[in-house]
Amino acid sequence: MNYILMDLEWNDTYCKKLKGFVNEIVEIGAVKLDESFNEIDRFSQIVRSALTKNLSSRFKELTGITNEQMQNGIPFAEALDKYKKWVGEDTVTLTWSNSDLHTLYHNCVDFIGDPKAAEIGRYVDLQKYFQYELSLIGKNQKNQISLANAAILFGIDFESETLHRALDDSYISAAILRKCYVKEHFEKFIIDTSNSEFYERMMYKVRYINDISDPSINKEQLNINCPKCDCKANRTSAWRLRKPWFHSSFFCENCGLKFKAAIALKKFYDRVEVKKRVFEPSSRPSSQRKSIPTEKIKKSAVKTK
Ligand SMILES: [Zn+2]
Repeated sequence: MNYILMDLEWNDTYCKKLKGFVNEIVEIGAVKLDESFNEIDRFSQIVRSALTKNLSSRFKELTGITNEQMQNGIPFAEALDKYKKWVGEDTVTLTWSNSDLHTLYHNCVDFIGDPKAAEIGRYVDLQKYFQYELSLIGKNQKNQISLANAAILFGIDFESETLHRALDDSYISAAILRKCYVKEHFEKFIIDTSNSEFYERMMYKVRYINDISDPSINKEQLNINCPKCDCKANRTSAWRLRKPWFHSSFFCENCGLKFKAAIALKKFYDRVEVKKRVFEPSSRPSSQRKSIPTEKIKKSAVKTK
């Protein structure tokens, strides 16, 4: 099996047809490694913009790619085809974060008219895998690490001025892969981009539910237990939405407690996650009302697919 470290550079281009700015791919770069991580080949291709003759000054500054170089490039569909032929069989492709795949997907839809063109076989998000390996040695990172910072962490030398050319970024990714690779761990991160669900899942926008009758909600997710005796309480008023929370009043038949509670429902591609807040009884003045301690706040998820 070969490893492909792929990197895309894109320009923020105005598209009249879409009436907005799009990230248009201007360069595809990649390095191919054999099973022992020796470099066996490299790929670099500049793409001619379908939308503009002029790159943004920010892009030109960042990459050093000139308008002339871009205009001498080849159309995106052709470049992608050439890239896929170069990749060949029995490979796994890696990118630093999946933002390259987001852009690839949009470009395949916008410029080729075929989302399936974005299928690149087996794939690993190297940033995600890298952060997993870091977490195993007790270095949990809340935020996503940039490629440059990951390189610094591993003491990998790079010339800052050469960053943000697709091929250079691929070299740094390759160096990081060599340093953090553990076969058994890595294999669990391999996903097949040809699986029909892959891009659907990746492009899905997580959001809060604003309609309490949304069919993806499992009725049991709306149950609220009494904060005093933990029995299931009866709802005594309609749900009122104060985004993202649905509020309502409750009565516990077991111990006679009246109280208020709120729930928030977050919709993911394949599940709905619920957060619940239970408030102390409303007999007290509202200024003294407190929400109960966090350990009583229950979080649950139910698969919807
Ligand atoms: Zn009760």
